[in-house]
Amino acid sequence: MAEGVHGAALTWVDNAGLTRVKAVPVGRLAQAAARGVGMSPVFDVYLVDDSITTSRHVGGPDGDLRLVPDLDRLTVLAGQPGWAWAPVDRYDQQGGPYAACQRLFARRMVRRAAEHGIELRMGFETEWVVQRDGVPACTGPAYGMARVVELSDYVEEVLRALVAQGVEVLQIHPEYAEGQFEVSVAPSDPVGAADLAVLVRETVRAVSLRHGLTALFGPVVEAGGVGNGGHLHLSLWRDGQNLCRGGPGPFGMTPDSEAFLAGVLDALPALLAIGAPSPASYLRLEPSRWAGVFQCWGLENREAALRFITGAPDDPEGANAEVKCFDAAANPYLVTGAVIAAGLAGIAAKAALPPPVQGDPAAGPEPAPGGGPARLPRSLPEALDHFGRSDVLREALGDALFEAIVAVRRAETELFAGSSPQEIADATRGRY
Ligand code: GLU
Ligand code: MG
Repeated sequence: MAEGVHGAALTWVDNAGLTRVKAVPVGRLAQAAARGVGMSPVFDVYLVDDSITTSRHVGGPDGDLRLVPDLDRLTVLAGQPGWAWAPVDRYDQQGGPYAACQRLFARRMVRRAAEHGIELRMGFETEWVVQRDGVPACTGPAYGMARVVELSDYVEEVLRALVAQGVEVLQIHPEYAEGQFEVSVAPSDPVGAADLAVLVRETVRAVSLRHGLTALFGPVVEAGGVGNGGHLHLSLWRDGQNLCRGGPGPFGMTPDSEAFLAGVLDALPALLAIGAPSPASYLRLEPSRWAGVFQCWGLENREAALRFITGAPDDPEGANAEVKCFDAAANPYLVTGAVIAAGLAGIAAKAALPPPVQGDPAAGPEPAPGGGPARLPRSLPEALDHFGRSDVLREALGDALFEAIVAVRRAETELFAGSSPQEIADATRGRY
């Protein structure tokens, strides 16, 4: 461990999408990796406001788990001098895998894909709004260089910290909403992509605070405004070949990648309960905001929930698909695992994609059954209905995790039942 590093933050992400932590002195890291650090399982039914619900298998004050840091991912934090970080897997007291561990779920789905000879490469985009004293910290226009000039030291330090941590940054830019920025990172294995989503966010948060700024990652910062997405990019690989290109299917997809994407597209209404998990998520999911609220796909179409990108002909890595309807309240381990489960179900069913959609579906024919693509669920209960009926996701997640997720979604629905959109935005934007 590098000199001057004293604390190791060991994190996992709960079903509400909040990153929770136990920290140990670095001297105890080896012991933590061997025996784990104790932590109650009750966090799997925590809500966004730290209130607690319960579910059939998870909840209540009893029991204990072992948090086992993945030292392969141990990273010295550039934005928090003196600190290192590692994500954890969670085991029971006997050392067996904990049934409701989200990261172990993602690992299981990666193994399942490998049994089909498929390797996934994934990457999350991180969007956030940066404020000073409760107002946007810069006034420059959307995508405007002016914002990078206004916050030059800050943006440079975000980049520098990420690069110092070994994160391969692809780009950073001002986004559409006031004070909004985005950073995207190179694809990696699915569990690694989820780990990176956590690391990137906590780095942005830490650097922001060092500049007297607050980074907000909630799905919406202002009700009625453009929100923060948490888009997921993915590509399928076999024997070093990108299956999203060079095949006979649409825009060069191979049969496996078409079937996988068809499985994901078909499952999107249920997947929203994972990828758009908060009542606040449905304030973001409005047409014509590039959030992808229609259940359709298209070539480089930013209003389709599933955007296919062919990339340059000489770039074998470039071809990939982007799921746009997810946001940053989502647990990234649940997202990666659930998307793989849905995709593999598509492969098992030899599913085919419907024709691609061009242009903004909101401007086209009426949504299905009028002929145009269907609107995705407009509320968390609607998404939860689809989730509850998804045998594929229930089987993949296992009862304990599935039911804990349902309990948290129901409880958050109730929590905000009497709240106005702005009250929901206010209560959630700074929590993730
Ligand atoms: N901020 C948009 C969202 O809510 C996404 C903008 C973009 O396409 O990057 O998803
Ligand atoms: Mg963006």
